Amino acid sequence: MPVHFRNYIDGHWAGALSGRTFENRNPADRNDLIGLFPASGADDVDRAVAAAKQAFPRWRLVPAPKRGEMLYRVGELLKKHKEELARVETREMGKILKETRGDVQEGIDCAFYVAGEGRRLFGETTPSELPDKFAMSVRAPIGVCALITPWNFPLAIPTWKLFPALICGNTVILKPAEDTPHTAVRFVELLEEAGVPPGVVNLVHGRGEETGAALVRHPEVKLVSFTGSATVGREIAAVCGRDLRRVSLELGGKNAQIVMEDADLELALEGALWGAFGTTGQRCTATSRLIVHRDVRKRLTDMLVARAEKIKIGSGLDESVEMGPLINHAAREKVQRYIGIGQQEGARLVIGGSSYEEGKCADGYFFRPTIFDNVAPSMRIAQEEIFGPVLSIIEIKSFEEAIEVLNGTLYGLSSSIYTQDVGRAFRAMRDIEAGITYINGPTIGAEVHLPFGGVKDTGNGHREAGTTVYDIFSEWKAIYVDYSGKLQKAQIDNVE
Ligand code: NAD
Repeated sequence: MPVHFRNYIDGHWAGALSGRTFENRNPADRNDLIGLFPASGADDVDRAVAAAKQAFPRWRLVPAPKRGEMLYRVGELLKKHKEELARVETREMGKILKETRGDVQEGIDCAFYVAGEGRRLFGETTPSELPDKFAMSVRAPIGVCALITPWNFPLAIPTWKLFPALICGNTVILKPAEDTPHTAVRFVELLEEAGVPPGVVNLVHGRGEETGAALVRHPEVKLVSFTGSATVGREIAAVCGRDLRRVSLELGGKNAQIVMEDADLELALEGALWGAFGTTGQRCTATSRLIVHRDVRKRLTDMLVARAEKIKIGSGLDESVEMGPLINHAAREKVQRYIGIGQQEGARLVIGGSSYEEGKCADGYFFRPTIFDNVAPSMRIAQEEIFGPVLSIIEIKSFEEAIEVLNGTLYGLSSSIYTQDVGRAFRAMRDIEAGITYINGPTIGAEVHLPFGGVKDTGNGHREAGTTVYDIFSEWKAIYVDYSGKLQKAQIDNVE
């Protein structure tokens, strides 16, 4: 009998009102059914939003340091269950245990980082231009927030949204990706154990087009915080824009690592391997373009091929495995389609390019590490997000050309340059169009206390994490206190 999992609404676990469910299977082994999850409809969404709305007036008045104490408890529980959560994640998402442990650690870091904000949430005091008048600004919560998340960081991304939302005094509905609902259930169970009051956090499972869309349309949802594809992000922004509701978007990337002729090639090699093939290339910050100076292009390509050939593919639950499967059938079809597109465009397939179906891997969605050489910057494989273990090598002749190629896509999330020249490093920091730039490090490796997000089509100008995330989840309110006992007119009474 399959295990039935449930939504969490107003402090109660329950199935969808319609009774409908969807399956969640292990991408490394299709025969492994993790369980059945509620296929929630608009009626379930209505109930969750009503619960969040009802809980809001009380939650916003809980002192922020108290809300922070609750997050410290959540952080302790995540620590205690780190290994179990990592295994739950690997089973439903596929990435290797070393990486899912990192994903859980990011959630733990986020809990402790945001909990501390409960004793800050600083506003400003500033002199008034008028006598006997006091001026300050404070943060106010927004209300009911919808958090819609992707499957590639099943724990970290929900924590990045949910903890800042709660510390600012909002109540939330989490709609996790349909490929990773189990991690979300375990996360919310731990929130419940930590004492989050009923209605403050609600969990609704279901398909994006149905459950997600119902949440986005709901007039009582005051903010939608979305991480996912640019296509869906655009649709959500259009709906929210029409109603003037707040929306923050973290979307795709086409990240590049530049390797100059003066780079430490061994270091650049390690960075490229981790950036391109870590999480099977399914990170928004994955390295999908390697922009290499012509003097070292051949050598670095040979080094990369020698190492990529040896990457051990298999179930992420096997500690010796280095690369797990793609998330699902559609993802593998998409990656395969791009291999054909690259070949038609005239790129040279150096290694990989096909499914990996040896032994037990025949039951999963495995794909070989793939490298294209002779890639022109304008080719589709160098422009569009593939979201798989595919690296495109682009040769350049100068630093200026490298920056131009790196900047020449619609996206602007992460970027990296390997060089020993401090002048080049600083010019890259100045001229690269991206939300994140690494010097002598791969394109992946964000830390929770720095702003995270991108420019151009990677988002709509917000930054999660860092101190900037609180600007997403709160409204600024300016307050003036006039204790002069008379009407004072700004810009009028104090002008000669
Ligand atoms: P996706 O856009 O298909 O889905 C993301 C979430 O949105 C899921 O929960 C899905 O159910 C929901 N959804 C889908 N259609 C919807 C709709 N019409 N209305 C409301 N919700 C809807 O993305 P994905 O395949 O899960 O994730 C991969 C994408 O996410 C990649 O493009 C990747 O770059 C991006 N991503 C970005 C970041 C970042 O911080 N910039 C981080 C991780 C992933």
